[in-house]
Amino acid sequence: MINVTQTFLPPIEEFQDILKRAWDKKWMTNRGELLLELELKLSKYLNVSNFFITTNGTLPLQIGLKALNITKEVITTPFSYVATTSAIIWENCTPAFVDIEQDSLTIDPLKIEAAITENTQAILATHVFGNPCDIGQIETIAKKHNLKVIYDGAHCFGVNYKSKSIFAYGDIVTTSFHSTKLFHTGEGGAVFVPNDILYKKCYYHHNFGHDGPLAYHGLGINAKASEMQAAVGLSVLPYMDQIIEKRKILTIQYENSLKENKNLTLFEYRDSTERNYSYMPIIFKTEAHLESVLEKLAASKIFPRRYFYPSLNTLPYLESFVSMPISEDICNRIVCLPLYYELEEQQVTQICNIINS
Ligand SMILES: *Cc1c(COP(=O)(O)O)cnc(C)c1O
Repeated sequence: MINVTQTFLPPIEEFQDILKRAWDKKWMTNRGELLLELELKLSKYLNVSNFFITTNGTLPLQIGLKALNITKEVITTPFSYVATTSAIIWENCTPAFVDIEQDSLTIDPLKIEAAITENTQAILATHVFGNPCDIGQIETIAKKHNLKVIYDGAHCFGVNYKSKSIFAYGDIVTTSFHSTKLFHTGEGGAVFVPNDILYKKCYYHHNFGHDGPLAYHGLGINAKASEMQAAVGLSVLPYMDQIIEKRKILTIQYENSLKENKNLTLFEYRDSTERNYSYMPIIFKTEAHLESVLEKLAASKIFPRRYFYPSLNTLPYLESFVSMPISEDICNRIVCLPLYYELEEQQVTQICNIINS
C-alpha cells in the first residue's frame, strides 16, 4: 500500500539513546534538557530566533490570537486545514473569509481590503504547501489598516523566502511538527514571534501564564512539549537534509512525468522561494476526472489525499455561509500525491503511468 505520506523514523536505537537521557534524569517535560537542545539545533538549522516549541501546531494559533488581543473579526483563507478556522472560532473571534489566488492558492491580497470592516483586527493566512502568501502586499495592507498578521506556516519547515526563513515574516508565525509533516516530533509545533515583548507574552501563555513556580504574568494554557516529543525531533533532525534531497528528486520526477498531461496542472511556487518539497499537489481539470483517477489508483492500493478538502467557508458550524468560488473549485479538483522519504522512483513511475493513462 502507498499512502499520501509515511512518517520518517530513524533507527529506534537512535531515539532510545536520546530518550535515555531524560529517563536517567527522571525529567519528562517542563522545558527539559532535550527540548532546549532541540530548540538550539532548530534555531541553527532554520536560521531563526525568537521561537519556542509547542505540543502541537494548533494551540500556537490560539495563543497568537490571544496574545494579540484579537476578539473580533479575523480575515482568513478558506483554503487551509480546518485548524486555521477552528482556532479563530475557538477564541470566540469571527472568521471573515477572503478567497484565494487561482495560481498561488494563498489568500488574495486584492480582495482583502474589500473585506475589512471596523471590526477587523487581524489577518490569519496560510502559506499553502510551503508556498508563501503575498507577504509584501499583506504587510502593506496590514500597516495601512493597523491589522495584525499571523501566518499558519504548518507546511513551511525549511522554506526560505527572499533569502530569509519564511518564519521571520509577520507578527506571529506558527508551524506544526505533526508526524505527517516534513519535520516531526510525533505531535508538536512551534511559534515564531519576532517582537520580544509579544514573544514573552506568547511564551507565558503557553506555560499557564507563569515563569518559574512563583511569577505569574496573566492568563495561560498548557502548550508545552514533552521530552518524548523532543527526543523524536532530535532523532529526526540529523536526517532532514537527506529527506529534503530525496523528496526533491521524487518531486522533479513527478513534475517531468506529469507536465505534458493536459488533464491536470502542476502547482507553481512564488518567485524567490526556496522550496521544501513538503507536498506534491496536482489540480485536475474536473472533479469527475479526479475521482476516476483516484479510483484507478485505489485499485493498485495507492492512496493520495484530497487536500485541502473541504473549503473552510463550507464548514457546517459557521454562523453564515459566504461563497468562495475559487477555493471551493480548487478543493474539488486538487489532490496531493504520495511523497515521502522511502517512496521509490519506480513507485512514482507507476503512479504517473496510472494518472497519464
Ligand atoms: C497540520 C496543520 C495544522 C495543525 O497542526 P497540528 O500540529 O496537527 O495541530 C494547522 N494548519 C495547517 C495548514 C496544517 O497543515
